[in-house]
Amino acid sequence: MSRHDPGGAVGHFSRALRECPVARKRDLARLLYYLGMALRRLGFPNSAVRTWITSQRARRHRQTRELIQRFANGYGMARQLSGDLDDWQAFYAIHTKRYLRCFGKRAFSSADERCMLADIIRDSWLTLRESGTLEGKSTAEKSVLFQATNIDFPLFHQARDPVVRVDFRTGERLCAESPCFCGSGLPFLACCGRTPGEDELETGFF
Ligand SMILES: [Zn+2]
Repeated sequence: MSRHDPGGAVGHFSRALRECPVARKRDLARLLYYLGMALRRLGFPNSAVRTWITSQRARRHRQTRELIQRFANGYGMARQLSGDLDDWQAFYAIHTKRYLRCFGKRAFSSADERCMLADIIRDSWLTLRESGTLEGKSTAEKSVLFQATNIDFPLFHQARDPVVRVDFRTGERLCAESPCFCGSGLPFLACCGRTPGEDELETGFF
């Protein structure tokens, strides 16, 4: 059904979870695997990736892992047509998320606000790309660079503190490439440290 009637499938999945909570992790993982397929077909590729990652957290599964490898990039977002587009989408999402968080909101108030922000972020992206700093860098290194890029948004100055990721259970600092602490078997940067994609930012689910 997730293949032929994805809209109906999503409705059934949510009803199933509400009325009949899943008792076994493997059942939940299976439900999420198919839910991801339905979401992808409905045009929510990033939500699909997130759903598969959640499925992998509940239970490691070869097929789910293969789907993630096929459809997700190193940022844990839906894979784009080129590496350059992958980088741009990550840069855009990181700064959009930061902007929205600074204002304590989950979505843009208007289309104008969104356009204005996209222009500002794009300018900053072009400057960064033309500087040549990104060449030869790994996804993990680029992610650090994107986080550290400061964009002065109108009306406020954002905090410039670098993001330090720590596994709170062991107290150890996490590297982007290290296996995620949640047990999914995926690299941290593509799992719990992933970057939300455009459709997630649109809907406010990130
Ligand atoms: Zn994780």
